[in-house]
Amino acid sequence: MPIDLHDGDLPDDVYFGPTVAIDTETMGLNPARDRLCLVQMSAGDGHCHMVQFRAGVYDAPNLKRLLADPGVTKLFHFARFDVAVLKAYLGVVCAPVYCTKVASKLVRTFTDRHGLKDLCRDLLGIDLSKQQQSSDWGSAELTPEQLRYAASDVLHLHELRARLDVMLAREGRTDLAEQCFRFLPTRAELDLGGWDEPDLFAH
Ligand code: MN
Repeated sequence: MPIDLHDGDLPDDVYFGPTVAIDTETMGLNPARDRLCLVQMSAGDGHCHMVQFRAGVYDAPNLKRLLADPGVTKLFHFARFDVAVLKAYLGVVCAPVYCTKVASKLVRTFTDRHGLKDLCRDLLGIDLSKQQQSSDWGSAELTPEQLRYAASDVLHLHELRARLDVMLAREGRTDLAEQCFRFLPTRAELDLGGWDEPDLFAH
């Protein structure tokens, strides 16, 4: 798979089309503590662009413009986390957003397996390796294995979305999904503000 690794920001001339698949790699799962290290993006054409961040250097005008562009849908798996991290480090509200995990939970009610690996296997017949998931993403020199793993997290999201959209329409839940997606930036903001657990809507 072709991978372009960029230092600190996207180049001016990269265009992803109306829907860009995005994933992030961080130093951990706590956005207040664990910094953003890598943002991976794909137009769904098998090609992956990545932006690597050095600690404390988050001046990335081209990437920020893309994330905030109302004409480009940002496609994530578990958008709640990525949208929070991107807000915390780049100061930008990602919108509009589509989340394959939320879509899966709305239609694949016969299972509780909604991980990216599960979706790739069940909907596309693709075996996704998660071996590098917990590696050191803050490293100045990422290994070829890390880069391949990071790219594989965005390469299948367009295809997954297409499958999930068919199921959402079939089950009459397209509108409900769209309302959930619209709420995601607010959900991320709540997480960053300290209303993460227990959930704001819990008793
Ligand atoms: Mn990932």
